[in-house]
Amino acid sequence: MSVSLGMPMIPGVRAQTPPRPTTAPGLLDKYGRVATDLRISLTDRCNLRCTYCMPAEGLPTQPASSLLQAHEIGRLARIAVEELGVRQIRFTGGEPLLRKDLVDIIAACAALEPRPEISLTTNAIGLSSRAAALKAAGLDRINVSLDTVHADTFLAVTRRPFLDRVIAGIDASAAAGLTPIKINAVLLRDVNDFQAVELLTWALQRGHQLRFIEQMPLDADHAWERGTMITAEEIRGRISELYTLVPDEEPRDGAPAELFRVLSRENGTDLGTVGIIASVTEAFCADCRRVRLTAEGGVRSCLFSHTETDLLTPMREGLDDRGVADLWRDAMWAKPKGHGLDTGLFVQPARSMSAIGG
Ligand code: SAM
Ligand code: SF4
Repeated sequence: MSVSLGMPMIPGVRAQTPPRPTTAPGLLDKYGRVATDLRISLTDRCNLRCTYCMPAEGLPTQPASSLLQAHEIGRLARIAVEELGVRQIRFTGGEPLLRKDLVDIIAACAALEPRPEISLTTNAIGLSSRAAALKAAGLDRINVSLDTVHADTFLAVTRRPFLDRVIAGIDASAAAGLTPIKINAVLLRDVNDFQAVELLTWALQRGHQLRFIEQMPLDADHAWERGTMITAEEIRGRISELYTLVPDEEPRDGAPAELFRVLSRENGTDLGTVGIIASVTEAFCADCRRVRLTAEGGVRSCLFSHTETDLLTPMREGLDDRGVADLWRDAMWAKPKGHGLDTGLFVQPARSMSAIGG
């Protein structure tokens, strides 16, 4: 069942979707892309209130009974891996560490054949005491969101005074071997943009890979403005004031981040890697390999989708694995060509980032 999330119709535009070939393998869409990278949101709740994501007062949350249970996540992950060709699973949210059953969920995915790569995107609050157990359960890597290393700026961005806990979580993850650690940073003009190079130096000194993500119009406050957002071009310019950036030679291979080697200006020493995810200004939709499941079991073929396909209700009503896989394939077949973010036609989805699963 495809559920409209209130997309306003654009006059004169009516999408015609050709029928999906029933023999097509995997999660193919009508533009020839195949999704192999699954993001599963484990909850819509969060213990931070990042200004670019959630409003200060939080958002209404779904009752626990509406969320995917651990065994349902295990079943959907099995269908994705065994039937639909998914090779990477990333858990996200909301804040995925708020799920007490996270270790069990990861262990179930790690037991699948072929074994998917398993990663977690987290704000790292509470990670210091759980990193070792998550690693033992089968977690391969983590991405931690950290936009600043200054306590006052952290408070301004996240509306919570928890910088120390985040850094403790990163350190514990490194000690547990959840490496390489990627740090996700969103730059906001006049808030933390002037700290970009300092944050990069901090990450390089610890051997972490910093990735700057262009701010996207997925905030619940609808405060995003194309004219004031910090662009990839601006980020490259700022980094180049202190370092030399050399495009990484590794093939990008569908990854959202464009990678650069960071060299010392003084002696050319290779200091590490930085990534820039230019979702808005240098969109990579043509190479997208992602598919998302919301915490309530809805398939979103694109982060910016205006529709979702509910898998949880038919699963609870007894639909078998083949039926679930077919619903999932149909949802992906209808994936839009691109998000159109940099065009005048873009319409912000009704759900914001924490509710979709970033
Ligand atoms: N709570 C976890 C965290 O913050 O890492 C996981 C969920 S969060 C929605 C996933 C990622 O989305 C984070 O790296 C966050 O920085 C990013 N994000 C949230 N809102 C965004 C926005 N409006 N534009 C760009 N990235 C955003
Ligand atoms: Fe929470 Fe992550 Fe959104 Fe920040 S970006 S409010 S940590 S879900």
